[in-house]
Amino acid sequence: MPHVVRFVENTITFPYTRSLGPVTGAFMTALTEKRILGIRCGDGVLVPPMEWDPATGAELAHDFVEVGPAGTVQSWTWVPEPTEQHPLDTPFAFAFITLDGASTPLLYAVDAGSPEAMSEGLRVAPRWKGERVGHITDIVSFIPGEEPEVQGDDAGPAAEPVTMMDYLASITYKNPVPPAFDFVVGASKDHRLIGFECPVCGRVYAGGRGVCPIDSLEFTEEHAVDLPHTGTITNHVVITPVQYPGQTETEPFARVFVLLDGFDVVLGYQPTFNLPVEDVAVGVRVKAVWTPAGEDIDEGGTMGGAFGALIGWEPSGEPAIDDLDLTDRIF
Ligand SMILES: [Zn+2]
Repeated sequence: MPHVVRFVENTITFPYTRSLGPVTGAFMTALTEKRILGIRCGDGVLVPPMEWDPATGAELAHDFVEVGPAGTVQSWTWVPEPTEQHPLDTPFAFAFITLDGASTPLLYAVDAGSPEAMSEGLRVAPRWKGERVGHITDIVSFIPGEEPEVQGDDAGPAAEPVTMMDYLASITYKNPVPPAFDFVVGASKDHRLIGFECPVCGRVYAGGRGVCPIDSLEFTEEHAVDLPHTGTITNHVVITPVQYPGQTETEPFARVFVLLDGFDVVLGYQPTFNLPVEDVAVGVRVKAVWTPAGEDIDEGGTMGGAFGALIGWEPSGEPAIDDLDLTDRIF
């Protein structure tokens, strides 16, 4: 493997909207009213309420019971160094809290200041957000004592019953960036399209790949070759964007594969400019489009698509090439 000198983080976020149903919806609606609901299950009261008896799977009647708001710590563990995944950014305890009237404990953060302030049997009460939306995080944390408190101005309960919940699932990747990629991105600022030629097999690779995958040979600047800025579309896809939250594309757009002139090199998933999607076709002649001088470029480590100051391809104005074999070229 090439010596890796830096990493980049890439985060993908998936926004979901989910319906809550009659039981979780009632629980979330009550949170906006600074009330905590459980549901009767046999002789017990489950908190948070569930639609089904966890022991038998039988559907539970919607017999809600208000519990708490104070409760008793059953057990706890201290989190001395919270990460961004944690509910608080200062040291806190995760505790099983049995709210008054409940028969099952609720796992929640207790903002106690120090582990010395925590103990089994400690009485705690919720600290509510001032602006509540019907989400479990309407409870900021629990705090020692019997009295709930509100953080900031109390904006009051939700005007309508809470039936839906927005949820962002995200995953962060930490990708190694080979030195060859930094070299290629750096050269792109001078509008140079750099490939690496393997001295063993003679193949040329574009996109800053750090090694020849055939020969496991690590590329350095001495293997660099300047690639042409013109080529031919060999394959393409037109994407019709779905309007999920956070989507910035509104119109159908294309990604194309470009076979570079005079080289056995195909660049995959390239953006296009000045090329209506209905005109995207195999054989269309294209030329590189670069970020204007002085503008910021993406230094990220993604290996697909355009990179650095190369931002895509536009028609070169030459006649299209009629060659069916082009569709065989995706690599
Ligand atoms: Zn090779």
